[in-house]
Amino acid sequence: MVQYLGTVRVTPSLPSFRRQINLINLNSCPPFSLSRNGFFSSSLSRNGFFLSSLPGNGVPSSSLSGNGLSSSSLSGNGFSSFSLPRNGFSPFRRILQACLQSNASRNADAQLQAGQSEIIFMGTGTSEGIPRLSCLTNPSNKCPVCSKAVEPGNKNRRLNTGLLICYHGPSGRRNILIDVGKFFYHSALRWFPAFGLRTIDAVIITHSHADAIGGLDDLRDWTNNVQPYIPIYVAERDFEVMKKTHYYLVDTSVVTPGAAVSELQFNLIHEEPFVVNDLKFTPLPVWHGHGYRSLGFRFGNICYISDVSEIPEETYPLLKDCELLIMDALRPDRSSSTHFGLPRAIEEVRKIQPRRTLFTGMMHLMDHDNVNEYLAKLMETEGLNVELSYDGLCVPVTL
Ligand SMILES: [Zn+2]
Ligand SMILES: [Zn+2]
Repeated sequence: MVQYLGTVRVTPSLPSFRRQINLINLNSCPPFSLSRNGFFSSSLSRNGFFLSSLPGNGVPSSSLSGNGLSSSSLSGNGFSSFSLPRNGFSPFRRILQACLQSNASRNADAQLQAGQSEIIFMGTGTSEGIPRLSCLTNPSNKCPVCSKAVEPGNKNRRLNTGLLICYHGPSGRRNILIDVGKFFYHSALRWFPAFGLRTIDAVIITHSHADAIGGLDDLRDWTNNVQPYIPIYVAERDFEVMKKTHYYLVDTSVVTPGAAVSELQFNLIHEEPFVVNDLKFTPLPVWHGHGYRSLGFRFGNICYISDVSEIPEETYPLLKDCELLIMDALRPDRSSSTHFGLPRAIEEVRKIQPRRTLFTGMMHLMDHDNVNEYLAKLMETEGLNVELSYDGLCVPVTL
């Protein structure tokens, strides 16, 4: 059950904008590269965030209630919604965005291959990022991993953990992001153009640490220039934190007129399954330090747990028959108070018995090649299929 809190803006009646829509140059969205070197060749593309809610004439349907608030069905999940006006809102700008969006989708869809869902690791590093600045500036101690990480393309170069699910469902391609940490802009800069991605159809939040929500402000580029708004799915405890850390994104009435901040639509989630863009997500409640709850998520037979120090007994049944487990593994030698280390993470793999495991959330002590060499031996000795993930890794999945 998702509780919709909403900050969708007022959308006035649309006929008055039809003439302007007709003036938009439909060729203004050029084709883009769909693949990149060195990784899985992807056919991912801009998708139809808004297109699915458009009737054939390309104009979004909308109705106005008596009090001037828009009666919206954009979430597609059947949840009730309400709207709040914001200072400086330009309804005309929104209509233009929606129209451009729909046509961008049409261009891209023509180039899509058969429906293949994929996951892309937006980031696989711990909060501070790798390389660590203090390692690079230390004149007396050369850190081997951080030295490698400065090289472009090196797999030790890691930004905050985050996963993009490119889901090919009944409504077409949808880009569902898990977490939008403080380095999100830099992750997106690397991987959105590289994979031909454009929209963000939803963001699901694991917890409210800075490396999971610090990039909420950067979503403004999408909601100002790509799409009208972004739905955020968040647990109530983390929403309460956002009210403090990003108060102006929650209550946009405080925004200075004309300022264009991210337009986010908040949906509360609980520790029970919920649906986003036709894809079912089951929260995987875990401890991330003593008394601090974080959520992993299961979608299809994929389980994603990026921040965990303890898995409660009641969560293990939710991990059964897991095809791909993506699991926190901070450092090679031991666990910290808030994260699994590699030995504990491997123990959990033995217990959960997924078909394949990719570790994430690594700090600078985890050398990609060295650790993977060690993990490969576990395949030989125990049949454990475990590896480190890396930023930009794209894995085709069945959802
Ligand atoms: Zn280092
Ligand atoms: Zn955290």
